[in-house]
Amino acid sequence: MPFADILGQDLAVNCLQRSLGRGRIGHAYLFAGPEGVGKEKTALALAQALNCPASSPDPCGTCSTCRRIAAGSYPDVQRVAPAGNSIKIDQIRALRQEAYYRPLEGRRKVYIITEAHKMTEQAANSFLRLLEEPPLYALFLLLTSQQAGLLPTIISRCQVVPFYPLSPALIRDKLQRELGLTRERAGVLAVLAGGSWEKARELASSDEAGSLRRQVLDLVSLLWDGDQAARWLEGGELEKAQELPQVLEQLRLWFRDLLVLKLTGERELLFNQDQVALLAEREQGYSTRRLIAALEALREAQGLLAGNANTRLVLDVLLGRLLPDRPLAARRR
Ligand SMILES: [Zn+2]
Repeated sequence: MPFADILGQDLAVNCLQRSLGRGRIGHAYLFAGPEGVGKEKTALALAQALNCPASSPDPCGTCSTCRRIAAGSYPDVQRVAPAGNSIKIDQIRALRQEAYYRPLEGRRKVYIITEAHKMTEQAANSFLRLLEEPPLYALFLLLTSQQAGLLPTIISRCQVVPFYPLSPALIRDKLQRELGLTRERAGVLAVLAGGSWEKARELASSDEAGSLRRQVLDLVSLLWDGDQAARWLEGGELEKAQELPQVLEQLRLWFRDLLVLKLTGERELLFNQDQVALLAEREQGYSTRRLIAALEALREAQGLLAGNANTRLVLDVLLGRLLPDRPLAARRR
């Protein structure tokens, strides 16, 4: 049952369930993907699947073993997390000392190493030796949002399982279902959450959503008036913004909404449910071709900024490609 609760990670879940079904779970997996998309939940479900006495390979989720695993109080399933800023050599040494013993209660010992990229160099080297002589009963689940921060020699000894950002529609529906939000508010938060369920839940109970939202709506208004956008760019506000990735993701959904509106006219398909009137007005300023090009430009910019590109340069080019292509006079008609 616990696997069924994991949202939007079908690839990862199917891959693990197939291996479980064949009784072929390896000794080390690397769960790689953004924060808040279900890596920990999946790790716990796998630990349950390997130890649940009631049901296999799909764990029951309700027996004492499953419940203790979920609560972090089962002796054969342990979590290793950064102590302060990093995972230290002492933590890995302690793990090495006990990983070679038989499980106390269950069938497999499972070590869930969160933020695995935060191992110190010494800790990483010590962990590598453990992977080179894998203990018979142990399974290591390394969780990371920054795969590039891990030693390539560690990665090559793990089976890599990719996790992906969740779609805004999935997040919106879950917010409605589980937190009882209205469709309008759920839609807005889903846009702001940038693919992370944890982020969405956090936003549902904070003010951050409001300020991020205002920032994006300001930007959208400035784009409507090309000169203003240029002036604003000079201030370099966006360049310095820590929330730049979220802002770009929201812009992408804004332009996606404009395109949906232009092509279908169906307002219930929009994510930005609180801005339907504004979207309907702005859509008039863009041709279909321009909107498609804008979405392409946003995707390119997101890719470039995820790498090491010059932020200012990328934004300069990007904002130029997001301006309306219908002259003001035509828009007023
Ligand atoms: Zn169980």
